[in-house]
Parts: sequence; C-alpha cells; structure tokens
Amino acid sequence: MSRPDVTALVTTLRTLLDGPGLAAEATMLRDGWVAALPLLVALRGEVKRLGAWAPHLPPSDGGLGLTLVEFARVSEVLGRSPIGHWLCNCQAPDIGNMELMHTHADASLQGRWLQPLMRGEIRSCFAMTEPEHAGSNPVWMSTTAVRDGDDYVINGHKWFTTGADGASFTIVMAVTDADATPHKRASMILVPMDASGFSIVQNINVMGERGGDHHSHAEVRFDGVRVPATNRIGGEGEGFTLAQARLGPGRVHHCMRWIGICERAFDLMCRRAVTRELSPGEPLARRETIQHWVAESRAEIDSARLLVLEAAQALETRGALGAKEQIAAIKFHTAAVLQRVLDRAIQVHGAMGLTDATPLALWWAHERGARIYDGPDEVHKQSLGRAILKRYAQH
Ligand SMILES: Cc1cc2nc3c(=O)[nH]c(=O)nc-3n(C[C@H](O)[C@H](O)[C@H](O)COP(=O)(O)OP(=O)(O)OC[C@H]3O[C@@H](n4cnc5c(N)ncnc54)[C@H](O)[C@@H]3O)c2cc1C
Repeated sequence: MSRPDVTALVTTLRTLLDGPGLAAEATMLRDGWVAALPLLVALRGEVKRLGAWAPHLPPSDGGLGLTLVEFARVSEVLGRSPIGHWLCNCQAPDIGNMELMHTHADASLQGRWLQPLMRGEIRSCFAMTEPEHAGSNPVWMSTTAVRDGDDYVINGHKWFTTGADGASFTIVMAVTDADATPHKRASMILVPMDASGFSIVQNINVMGERGGDHHSHAEVRFDGVRVPATNRIGGEGEGFTLAQARLGPGRVHHCMRWIGICERAFDLMCRRAVTRELSPGEPLARRETIQHWVAESRAEIDSARLLVLEAAQALETRGALGAKEQIAAIKFHTAAVLQRVLDRAIQVHGAMGLTDATPLALWWAHERGARIYDGPDEVHKQSLGRAILKRYAQH
C-alpha cells in the first residue's frame, strides 16, 4: 500500500484551516467552544471527505497510518488553529487514550470504547492529577482501586481532567497495591462517566474561563465507583509504565502543536508590523525593536522544530528510554519559545492583541499551562541536567 503524501496532506489541511476553518475559529474565539460546535462538526465531515481523518491511526482503523515524524509535520499545521487537532480527531487527551487502548486494552474494551472513540462518536479523558498532591511527583496519590470479587471499587479525587465535560469515559490512575515499590503501585482503569459514584464537581475556572465540552478542565470524584476488573488497561501495577510510554509521543505531539501556534503568531506579527502605521507611511516594521523580535522569533521557531523532529526520530528508532533526554529537552525548550513568540506577537498588536480578533489572547491564556502540564519545565530540566552530569561524573 502506498504511503500517504504528507506534503499534500499538510497543504490540504492548511487550505481548510485558512478557508472555511476561519469562520468556525472566529465563532469559537468570540462565543466559546460550545457555541462553535455545530460548525466544527460540519468541518469534521469535510476533513473525512478530504481523506485527512485521524492521521495517527492505522488505515485498518480508518486513519492514515502516519509515522511519528510524519504526524509531527501534520500536528504543526493543525496547531495553527485552536480547532485544528479536534477536526482530525487527534486532540489530546483522546489521542493518548487511543494509543494506549490500541496496544493495552482487551478486545471487549476496544470494541465498546475504542472503536467509537476512533470514529469520533465519543470523547474521553484522563484522570491522574490530584489537588491534594504534587502532580510533579506522580507516584504520590490517594486514589485507590480495591479488588472486590470480579470488580474494582474506586475512591478518589482528581482535577484538571481535561475534556471530562461531555466525555463518555475516563481512564483513571489509581493505587492498586499500596505496598508495592512506588512505580508498581498504580494501575489504569477505564471508568464510564455514567458509572454510579462518579461525578464532575465542576469545570474549573482556568485563567478566567470555565469553558465547556472538549475545551474544559474538570474536578472529578470517584465515590465507591464499581467497575469490572476487566476494565483495567494493561497489567495490575503497570500504570506508571504505561503512562511513561504514552508521554513520549505525547510530548512530540504537544511540541509540534506549539510550533504551529508559533508559526501562526509569527505570521500575524509580521502582517501587523507591515500594515500598522505609527504615522502616515511609517509602519511598525521600520522599527529596529520589531525587526529584532521578528528575527529572534524566526530563529527560535526553526531551532525548536529541528530539536522536536530529531526527538521524534530518536523515539522511533531508539524507543522512549533511548530518547529520554531529547524528550525532556523539547518539552521545556519549545514551551519557552512558544511563550516568547506569543508575547512578542501580542505586543506588536498592542491592545488588539488582547482581543478575540486573533487567537493570540486565547493561546496566551490557555498555553501558559504548557510550562506546567506534561510535567513542569523544572522537572524536565532537572532530569536532563542530572543525566548529563552523571556521564561527566563517570569519567
Ligand atoms: C491546562 C492543563 C491541563 C491538564 N490536563 C490534565 C489531564 O487531562 N489529566 C491529568 O491528570 N492532569 C492534567 N493536568 C495536570 C498536570 O499534569 C499537573 O498540573 C502537572 O503534573 C503539575 O502538577 P501540579 O499542578 O500539582 O504542580 P506541583 O507538582 O505542585 O508543582 C508546582 C511547581 O513546583 C515546581 N516544581 C515541581 N517539581 C520541581 C522540581 N523537581 N524542581 C524544581 N521545581 C519543581 C514547578 O515550578 C511546578 O510548576 C493539566 C494541567 C494543566 C495546566
């Protein structure tokens, strides 16, 4: 079977996002995600018609079967719009759950939950972080899943469960053996959102916005939730091993999405610089400060992309463990580039940069989290620095 033409796919998606996608994006920026949903659903139909659905999934599951490096290029173009990934059904956290369930869920879970998720008929979420414990120490958690006959009974409190509002199931990380070594204590278990004892406490107000549907982060509770033991994904005690495997490709996806955001911000910044006049015939672009911001942004975006593509290549050839250092480096480096480029683009737009006339303000609010989620930057810097220094200490 012939490989998909990734360059053609990128062009197709760019045309969609720059054309009909702009109206849906504008509605989303002005009125929020939920108001834009009818337009977004219609655009998903267009994505399927164009043969661009689920680039990360194998063709046998209705996808395009892209490699990680190929998907990285697609993720960049989709990142140019806050609606891009959702249109192709490769948005986080669903994409991570799909990958996880593909390899580690049994056939009945795949039939009941994974198939409709891959078809885009339902959504899912991932509940790991707890308000009471530092998420940067993931082995420290209070949520438990206790075996009772053929079931698990789950009790716990989680938050920042992205997209829980309207999702059909969550995958929860819960302690199944408190006496095991820290990294063997927890398991991943699928919980239907309509299970008795499960509740969404609230959509958390994040940077002044509660959001809704896929665009939200919830506080959730598990109060004696009973699910069959067959809802476990992977083996008992394998939760952290699976989480690690999920996080490697996930960081490449996020980083390439951030680079897509940077490219859009860069375009907006440059266009504004050449059209906004400080006085007749005196565009902003004539000022050296603006020229420096443009030059610095160009160099920073291009260097971040090279780093991320190299990490994706390393992941594909050497696996998650072999690419550990590159994965740590791209996470904090790209998040920092994203923040600097967005900040410059907003500054060039002046007050307009704070409005919904462009996606800059939305990204500024939503992507501040880039330095926190998927492991705070400081944790990645520490692990990379430690690994490098360890090699020096050996000689
Ligand atoms: C937008 C967003 C979406 C999210 N979505 C999900 C989701 O879907 N599911 C889910 O389970 N979780 C999700 N999270 C939670 C996320 O995984 C946690 O916020 C993250 O792991 C950090 O945990 P924490 O917030 O408890 O911060 P803490 O662990 O309390 O850390 C606070 C700060 O301490 C500093 N710090 C931590 N460790 C070190 C160190 N070793 N050295 C120096 N400084 C350090 C860092 O500056 C860090 O920001 C999301 C978070 C955000 C912001």
